[in-house]
Amino acid sequence: MPRPIRATFDLAALRNNLAVARAQAPGARAWAVVKANAYGHGTLRAVTALDAADGFALLDLEEAVRVREAGVRKPILLLEGFFALDDLPTIAEHGLAAVVHCEEQVRMLESAGLPARIPVYAKLNSGMNRLGFAPAAFADAVRRLQASRMVSGVTLMTHFADADGARGVAEQLGCFASAAAGLALPRSLANSAAVLRYPETHADWIRPGIMLYGCSPFADASAESLGLEPVMTLASELIAVRELARGDRVGYGGAFAAPKRMRIGVVACGYADGYPRHAPDGTPVLVDGLRTRIVGRVSMDMLTVDLGPVPNAGVGAPVTLWGEGLPADEVAAAAGTISYELLCRLTARVPQAERG
Ligand SMILES: *Cc1c(COP(=O)(O)O)cnc(C)c1O
Repeated sequence: MPRPIRATFDLAALRNNLAVARAQAPGARAWAVVKANAYGHGTLRAVTALDAADGFALLDLEEAVRVREAGVRKPILLLEGFFALDDLPTIAEHGLAAVVHCEEQVRMLESAGLPARIPVYAKLNSGMNRLGFAPAAFADAVRRLQASRMVSGVTLMTHFADADGARGVAEQLGCFASAAAGLALPRSLANSAAVLRYPETHADWIRPGIMLYGCSPFADASAESLGLEPVMTLASELIAVRELARGDRVGYGGAFAAPKRMRIGVVACGYADGYPRHAPDGTPVLVDGLRTRIVGRVSMDMLTVDLGPVPNAGVGAPVTLWGEGLPADEVAAAAGTISYELLCRLTARVPQAERG
């Protein structure tokens, strides 16, 4: 029998979550963001399940080609565009769309001789200060792209830094509106947080990512309260149970000492499976469907849990690390990170299954 850990992907939940995004922005088309191996869910699995999306957005050219060669006919958008002149023929041959965010990319396009024209997304830096043209340079870059024989159409885009936080989108939206003034072209602005909270950002194409995978982009709103259902469930089993006397220590560094007699369970899941090593004592976990907590340091292949709340749990008892019954958002918050990181760090050694 294999080690009992597994990740199960609920494809009906994935479809539900796309429907939630669409219902928020009924007039817009939807890119399903499937970068980072579809946030750990498997790119081809997600693309196949999300056939109601209008297109798929990701980063990696080889990955995009793989999606195209799997038979996907819909638009595919490269969110960072291309990295070298050499990438352009592949992009054209496979009918991919590319973000253009800098002068170097414009020049590459202008100097390329391609077998087909490329749809491009001209990206404005409206305040995040990672990628994108400065507001003062934007209109000129867009005109050059429109004039290029290699470009089949231009969409205007930007990305929000704090649509999930206190600053919101107002300042960046204002910057985008003035930089794009007079350019009668389609627009794409909204990530999941903006899809859910700022209808004024929906425009022509929304770009939901994390919400498709059933997690909340907000620290102050649960996924469930947004109508989202968990897609990835990481589950395992107890492979040992032991009694500790008061003062007995658990795991590397003896980081946890039993304050009194207690039972603990050893779970077949560790950081080599993608569980965060820095998850502290108290991080929630389900054993036999009941909520308890991690105690002691997470090791490579195992972690230890308090069986106080589940006195009848023995070897073989089911354990949920996150997913159905225990939002990844809660585990992430306890571990000082975000659900995005938990999901996309699931490792290749974890066996995978699908349902729905
Ligand atoms: C990752 C990404 C998104 C999706 O963001 P979520 O917060 O996961 O919804 C949208 N647009 C761009 C440009 C991205 O890189």
